[in-house]
Amino acid sequence: MTFKSIRGTKDILPPETARWQHVESVVRAVFHRYNYKEIRTPIFEQTSLFARSIGELTDIVGKEMYTFTDRSDDSLTLKPEGTASVIRSFIQNNLGEAQPLVKVYYISPMFRQERPQAGRLRQFHQFGAEAIGSPFAEADAEIIAMTIEVYRQLSLTNYALKINSVGCEKCRPRYKEILQTELRKIAPQLSPESQRRIEQNPMRVLDSKNEDDLRLTSSMPLITNYLCEECSSHFEKVKSFLSSLGISYVVDGRLVRGLDYYTKTAFELTSSELGSQDALAGGGRYDLLAQELGGKPTPGIGFAAGFERLMMVIEKKGLLNDLDVHPTIFLAAADETSRSWVLEKTMELRSHGIAAETDFLHRSLKAQMREADRQRAAFVTVVGAEELNKQAAVLKNLRVKNEREVPFADLAKVLSE
Ligand code: AMP
Repeated sequence: MTFKSIRGTKDILPPETARWQHVESVVRAVFHRYNYKEIRTPIFEQTSLFARSIGELTDIVGKEMYTFTDRSDDSLTLKPEGTASVIRSFIQNNLGEAQPLVKVYYISPMFRQERPQAGRLRQFHQFGAEAIGSPFAEADAEIIAMTIEVYRQLSLTNYALKINSVGCEKCRPRYKEILQTELRKIAPQLSPESQRRIEQNPMRVLDSKNEDDLRLTSSMPLITNYLCEECSSHFEKVKSFLSSLGISYVVDGRLVRGLDYYTKTAFELTSSELGSQDALAGGGRYDLLAQELGGKPTPGIGFAAGFERLMMVIEKKGLLNDLDVHPTIFLAAADETSRSWVLEKTMELRSHGIAAETDFLHRSLKAQMREADRQRAAFVTVVGAEELNKQAAVLKNLRVKNEREVPFADLAKVLSE
């Protein structure tokens, strides 16, 4: 019997892993520049944390979570997104006590039992950040600017920023009722999924993926016209900060996003390089989440971005193609007696910080030279009786095709130059 990876999961193999590492380092560099610090939360949590925060009626909680009962009969869930865990940790560790604004980021796998397709996996990876403690629009602008900065740093420009305000507990209920009344009138013509949502989560009908639903709801009232004074003024400020930062956006009154905890700002970054799963990143404000999870009322805003979709765009654009690491030197053994010396020297060079490789398959000298080429080593040296006698190696530069004799004792120094 042979084993296969689980449907919707993917092995990330070399040399692709080099690209992932590079992108991770760009993400970290951007986040550090904005003074966000890394937080690492466990891969699984109590199921009720997600039910409570993301919302019982969302797709994620309703049908996508990897939930299991462990041997102690506790219901646990592999994390489907990052914010709930971060806020749980923020409350549990009193992070807000030491500083009034907590800025954290994460890079982590997430798990959702969705129907796999291009850009949609069951184990996928996200990078994301949360700014917890500020109710002000400057924090929203910073989070959005930071999201975009990651793509800019990677020379990606084909993206569109959509923003909306989903209101708050004061203005949203009234809007929901008005929308519901309108939607009920056209209910029989809507897709079964949207029909269900009319009663449970009417705002999500507006961001349905179904073309007919979108057409039928094109003249529905939008939340942007029903915002209370506070939400409306917050939204105006966010827009004005974005404009002054030179960030272009479109207001999309239908943008709701699939998580219930959002209040006020919601945003999404989409790429024209992707197919139907075109969302690169999404985020929003969640001013009620901390208190919903048993903490002190604390406003917050954050975002999460998909790694796989970003990698798809990078690949499509032919970027970051040659990041694989290659040995600086390959040491080949000319005969059996020099093998042990070659291994020792390889180890010694490594201890001096040099990426050194040798043969572990007892190959012929010719095959070793071929391997050095295949590994794209910068230098190769062949060691046999003569070299051992002279205590010197002939160092061949495989890039510029020249060679020079170097005493063994100087090898590390010469290779570090
Ligand atoms: P969300 O947490 O749903 O707001 O998603 C944030 C980002 O994560 C999306 O914009 C996608 O880039 C990515 N993402 C979400 N779900 C998946 C998935 N099943 N597979 C791959 N990427 C995903």
